[in-house]
Amino acid sequence: MPKKRVLVGYGIDVDAVANWLNTTDGSVQNPTNVSRGIYGATVGLDRLLTLFSRNSIKATFFTPAHTLESFPEQLAKVRDDGHEIGLHGYTHEYPSTLSAEQQKAVLDKSISVLTDFCSKAPLGYTAPAWSTSRQLIPQLEEAGILYDHSFMHHDLQMYFAPDNSHSWIETNNSQSADSWMKPMGKIKSSSIVEIPANWHIDDWPPLNPIPGRAGAQGFVDTAVIEKLWKEQFDFGYREYDTFIFPMSIHPQVSGKPQVILMHERMIEYINQHEGVEWMTFGEMAKEYLGGKIAGAKVEGGADR
Ligand SMILES: [Zn+2]
Repeated sequence: MPKKRVLVGYGIDVDAVANWLNTTDGSVQNPTNVSRGIYGATVGLDRLLTLFSRNSIKATFFTPAHTLESFPEQLAKVRDDGHEIGLHGYTHEYPSTLSAEQQKAVLDKSISVLTDFCSKAPLGYTAPAWSTSRQLIPQLEEAGILYDHSFMHHDLQMYFAPDNSHSWIETNNSQSADSWMKPMGKIKSSSIVEIPANWHIDDWPPLNPIPGRAGAQGFVDTAVIEKLWKEQFDFGYREYDTFIFPMSIHPQVSGKPQVILMHERMIEYINQHEGVEWMTFGEMAKEYLGGKIAGAKVEGGADR
């Protein structure tokens, strides 16, 4: 069997209070949901730091600037433990719902807050709720960001994110069919390394109950999620000589006792495999940029 190389890492979205405050229309959030965010920034974060410390793992904490400014002592622990701190909006705003100017203002502010706190510029970005926009990649390029973790063109390989210049036409039944029967425009790559996002390696939808929201049922047995994640790892290990396994988690979800226990079992399982290297997402992106690990190429679309 050829020698394997697997880059494994945790991307932790320290949404804390910010994601609850992102009501998008100014509607009032209830204090119990805010308390779930405070739990994440305090109890959950501390438990994850202990988990990583016990297992000698350096991870990437994607932190809304609102979290950093509201819980600076907590994020100082993250920074001082040698973990990476990456961008995740200011108040967990969805780029998909903002104007280009608002997106730019959020990016500029959050880069400035993280740069001041870490005494160095952030390397990477993940979009809140992976709810992206066409302006996102061009704005990240302009800001000198190295990598993104929001798109889903692949699941187990890095690639250069498409520059979002490829056009497509949505159907509109009130118009003639001829108006939308056109192929997608040709995909061109940007300079941003993509460490793909993947809802199937994310703790939030299955393990975080939000009453009234069908997509956040939240009461799935962790044994089911553990099996789902292990199967994806097993497939990668069987099919590829080299691949990445980026897991996306949240302190307010994965800090719960039953989920910490699942992570302990996952880490032990992954570590049984030859060729596994734990690293931050920033380190993964640098491996790819340096040509030290192969990846994928996103192709498709037509000249029109
Ligand atoms: Zn988030």
